[in-house]
Amino acid sequence: GPVLGLEASCDETAAALLAPDGTILAEAVRSQLAEHTPFGGVVPEIAARAHLAHLPALAAQVMREAGVSPADLGGVAATAGPGLIGGLIVGASFGKGMAIAHNLPFLAVNHLEGHALTARLPGLVEDGVAFPYLLLLLSGGHCQCVAVEGLGQYRRLGSTLDDAVGEAFDKSAKLMGLPWPGGPALEKLAASGDPKRFPLPRPMLGRPGCDFSFSGLKTAVAQSIPKLENEQDRADLAAAFQRVVAAVLADRARNALAMLPGATAMVVAGGVAANQGVRAALRAEAEAAGLPLIAPPIRLCTDNAVMIAWAGIERLRAGWTDPLDHAPRPRWPLAELAEPAGPGVA
Ligand code: ATP
Ligand code: MG
Ligand code: FE
Repeated sequence: GPVLGLEASCDETAAALLAPDGTILAEAVRSQLAEHTPFGGVVPEIAARAHLAHLPALAAQVMREAGVSPADLGGVAATAGPGLIGGLIVGASFGKGMAIAHNLPFLAVNHLEGHALTARLPGLVEDGVAFPYLLLLLSGGHCQCVAVEGLGQYRRLGSTLDDAVGEAFDKSAKLMGLPWPGGPALEKLAASGDPKRFPLPRPMLGRPGCDFSFSGLKTAVAQSIPKLENEQDRADLAAAFQRVVAAVLADRARNALAMLPGATAMVVAGGVAANQGVRAALRAEAEAAGLPLIAPPIRLCTDNAVMIAWAGIERLRAGWTDPLDHAPRPRWPLAELAEPAGPGVA
């Protein structure tokens, strides 16, 4: 039967229902933007309470929309880490409750694995992307190059030494006086800017390997702020920032591809994958290597439950279910996923 996916690891509450072949039957996301905006960032305790208030209704909504009752389900997949512990406990406990009540297999899904496997969702690319492929995970909390070599087999090729790329967008946007979250606002501003006016450093460019560093870039943005006199100046700085980030990401991606011979594709995920400048730079890099760039639709790049249900389906197919005493993990590196946690109830 269909698999119910639940996501509550950060500031999006989400539920989705997928058929066993990966067809999306229903999906719903409720952003907590309004709750957190007054604080200029995600407040963990507020997030946990909002997940608790809204997850049951979202789950009921997708079941109703798809005309599926709990007894028809093939399993329940919930994000069990990494993320904010309060929300993880809400999502995983709700999922376990449904699994107990209806005698269903429970799947404790790693949020990053959800992002990593999205590209394999049938319908996104014909027949799905085959292993191995390069994943660039570019979000507010993560910035990594990952070799996706098989289900549960993820090798980190490189990661950020300081800030995540989304964090760099958010902090730079804040310095420019843009509203939180800064990424989308900065991209909009950059569209009318001249990227050549402000020279900014290009951290890590040309270095071996595929690690990232963004804190120096943020400092350079901070130092440019006093020079801003009007809206055009701000747009020029935004454009310069975005162009540098895109160039650095492309440079790192090129090295990462060289570290994964046999890659079938370059896949991008996370909120920063929504950025058109970033996408274009990465597409050029992938095409230069003779590979496609797989960029899921934006709603599947940012946090969602479709990816959690899909990772659950892939694990269910492999027979990897999880025990009901599985404990959510605020830190849970992808590299620790090779072995399934253990047998489940069904
Ligand atoms: P994680 O998934 O690692 O736990 P997260 O929930 O913060 O972290 P996402 O929801 O995937 O990550 O992405 C949010 C981030 O993406 C924010 O930093 C936001 O500024 C950035 N972002 C969103 N849209 C854009 C855009 N168009 N350009 C640049 N950055 C963007
Ligand atoms: Mg988010
Ligand atoms: Fe995420």
